[in-house]
Amino acid sequence: MLTKTKIYLSSPHMGEGEQKFVNEAFSTNWVAPLGPNVNGFEDDLEQYLGNDSHVSVLSSGTASIHIALQLLGVSKGDEVLCQSFTFSASANPIIYQGATPVFIDSEPETWNMSPELLEIAIKDRIEKYKKPKAIIAVHLYGMPYKVDEINSIAKKYEILVIEDSAEALGSFYYNQPCGNLSDIGVLSFNGNKIITTSGGGALVTKSLDLKNKAIFLSTQARDNAPHYEHSKIGFNYRMSNVLAGIGRGQMEVLNDRVEARRQNFNFYKEELSKFNNLSFLEEPKGYFSNRWLTCITTDSFETRESIRLSLQNKDIESRPLWKPMHMQPIFKDCLSFTNGISENLFNKGLCLPSGSNLTKEELNLITHVIANNPKL
Ligand SMILES: *Cc1c(COP(=O)(O)O)cnc(C)c1O
Repeated sequence: MLTKTKIYLSSPHMGEGEQKFVNEAFSTNWVAPLGPNVNGFEDDLEQYLGNDSHVSVLSSGTASIHIALQLLGVSKGDEVLCQSFTFSASANPIIYQGATPVFIDSEPETWNMSPELLEIAIKDRIEKYKKPKAIIAVHLYGMPYKVDEINSIAKKYEILVIEDSAEALGSFYYNQPCGNLSDIGVLSFNGNKIITTSGGGALVTKSLDLKNKAIFLSTQARDNAPHYEHSKIGFNYRMSNVLAGIGRGQMEVLNDRVEARRQNFNFYKEELSKFNNLSFLEEPKGYFSNRWLTCITTDSFETRESIRLSLQNKDIESRPLWKPMHMQPIFKDCLSFTNGISENLFNKGLCLPSGSNLTKEELNLITHVIANNPKL
């Protein structure tokens, strides 16, 4: 049972339309960080996310979080409350702004920001320092966080929320698309995400004014003048018209990609849930996950490692769940509010290959390797 080629965790999956949009960019010479594909991709995303969304497409999800923090006025001396269980790109832009992250652990039902710890942290910071400037909550692995609870705490203390939806395009919370559920949303189109432009991201705002501000900051902050006039520091963060062409093609197949990833999850669950030391994260009522990555949790670090290494032996890529930010060397001096949940997930959890282009044979091989693990 050997495969000829490596099985990846999550690899790009092109549809039929991408090439046409890219060719158009070439034949019309719109090879620039502006053009019809940029506007077209933004229109597609605005349609998908709903009426009151105003989207600017940027060079990455990380750049989008960076711009989001600027739109919210986060700067030196400010604290930002950030989900600890996430990829470092959720938190790094806080540092770019000279601000300070404060990390919040997870709850067990969605693995995302614990509303309880969030409120404890807010009260603590108000008492001991000052009110945090923003909250960054993450729909990790595509599972929506507890949106109503987080939003109502944010509202109570009048703190704005950045919704890191980098892993959750195609997920829904009570029929509302993720990415447009808080003050500012962030998407990523990196190569491993549910749809990709090779690299790219988007900022989802509630007003045309904020969208225009985001575009202004992302295109070097040029004031309105015939020469180059600047009264603000700008960034070179706009998406290329070539890459936006890939995005337009990918939007045509987004629903298929979500369906395929959900089928992967269901297949793994059917084949593996009979082992009582493996478990799967279920969707709470009203939650719809795009199942970007299928994750399993095991009974111990040893079981997890044994499964991971047996897959690696067959050239199958799997990966431990995200290492929480409060455990990362670079953030070791940051304040955190923890309950052990994300640390436990990190120690015992594993992401399985989850691409929408996995074949039935590949899925069978993966489950076969796991099912034959002596620790199960
Ligand atoms: C991928 C990702 C990002 C960053 O997006 P890039 O487009 O890779 O910069 C941010 N947050 C989370 C949770 C991610 O998974």
